[in-house]
Amino acid sequence: MPAPARFPLPTAEIHVWVAYLTARCNFACDYCIQKPQMVPGQRRKPWGRYQELTGRQWVDALNAFPVRPEHPLILTGGEPSLHKDFAFLASRLEGYQLDMTSNLTFDIDAVAREMKAHGKQFATSFHTYHPKFLTPEKWLDQAERLRDSGLVAAPVFSMVNLERFPHFRDDEHDQNVARLAQLADRRGLVYQWNEFRGTHMGEAFNRDHKYRIDCTSAWVNIDPEGNVHNCQYHLTERKHAFGNVTDIGNCRPLPAMGEFFACTDFGYCDPCHENSGHGAFRDQQGNIFRRTANDARVYLQWMQPAAIKAVARRYFAQGDHREAEHALLAAIGKERDAGTDNGETWADLGVTLYETGKRKQSLAALLHAIDAGVTRTETVGSALVVARELGLVEHARQTILRHVPAQNLERIERALDVVRAEPARS
Ligand code: SF4
Ligand code: SF4
Repeated sequence: MPAPARFPLPTAEIHVWVAYLTARCNFACDYCIQKPQMVPGQRRKPWGRYQELTGRQWVDALNAFPVRPEHPLILTGGEPSLHKDFAFLASRLEGYQLDMTSNLTFDIDAVAREMKAHGKQFATSFHTYHPKFLTPEKWLDQAERLRDSGLVAAPVFSMVNLERFPHFRDDEHDQNVARLAQLADRRGLVYQWNEFRGTHMGEAFNRDHKYRIDCTSAWVNIDPEGNVHNCQYHLTERKHAFGNVTDIGNCRPLPAMGEFFACTDFGYCDPCHENSGHGAFRDQQGNIFRRTANDARVYLQWMQPAAIKAVARRYFAQGDHREAEHALLAAIGKERDAGTDNGETWADLGVTLYETGKRKQSLAALLHAIDAGVTRTETVGSALVVARELGLVEHARQTILRHVPAQNLERIERALDVVRAEPARS
């Protein structure tokens, strides 16, 4: 008798089955991992157009499987609740523990009613606040409604920790995140901070070159049409499908976790795959690794000088002067490439260098700014303060007097003398 065919989708706990119900999302976060390039300021778009399986097709296909995964089946997208049959399929799947990821914009009461009517509940769920697309109040209302609805046994609420990545933040982002943290604490909603997974091995998630590598994976990723892939990159690119859930008898078996296979697309992999613990790589020397190294600086390459300076200001404001310095140098490099020499950038650099303890370079940058026409009292005063500390006042004066009238310089120096004298009087 021939041995019974192995069911093609691995079910062990480490394997995570993910149903991407749709490629669409009603938000467009620039740090979304489902972007071909994670370029700051560039919005996410759907990664493709699909004839999405209907709820009935999902239910008929998955309920007919003779096995169930040990780990919950994750319903995701895009935003999975945009699928027209989301509540139907979630409430009709039999024998699956369910998980979902959602930005919490769906009608929670309606989905909860449908699930309850069929005696169902999500085991877990994962909801991240995206501050450019929803007010903190609205998200918190939804989070509390979900928590109290019984729809999910153990929901997880979170925010993305972008402290080291001001490239993806602006004032609205920062204000909303701060407000949400304050309100959540006050209202007793427990939340966590998620690691930002946009950089790896010192490179951005930019898909700009590919290598050959051995890969192993414990993902069972099912695209909106039911095609099965073992990584998100191949899912979004529709490459190397193993088969389709609606025709599981003709699906090739997915390799088990730990079973390495050759792939020539390494470098385009999504960072989530790599760092989640459900995927790993083996190089030509036999080293097994995940791409965990981080370097926030790589994102500056795609940004314009004005945006880079905004990044530097955010770093400076949070006391990260070394990163502010690096960002300002990058902005200056780009301005020079464009044939401009912006004195304001040099003035910012001068102040930042002072904070990093590089006083000589600070003075040079401030004097360069003044030479380039930045003659505000603040900049001239800063140059004089640094020059006094270094014993280089005459040198500084020579530069300043080329651009600032002598009486103005005297006025600024007198003001500095008063400031210097004040602590002695108090
Ligand atoms: S809500 Fe999620 S899926 Fe949608 S764009 Fe933002 S990060 Fe991407
Ligand atoms: S190496 Fe990257 S692109 Fe290739 S299968 Fe693995 S995760 Fe996917």
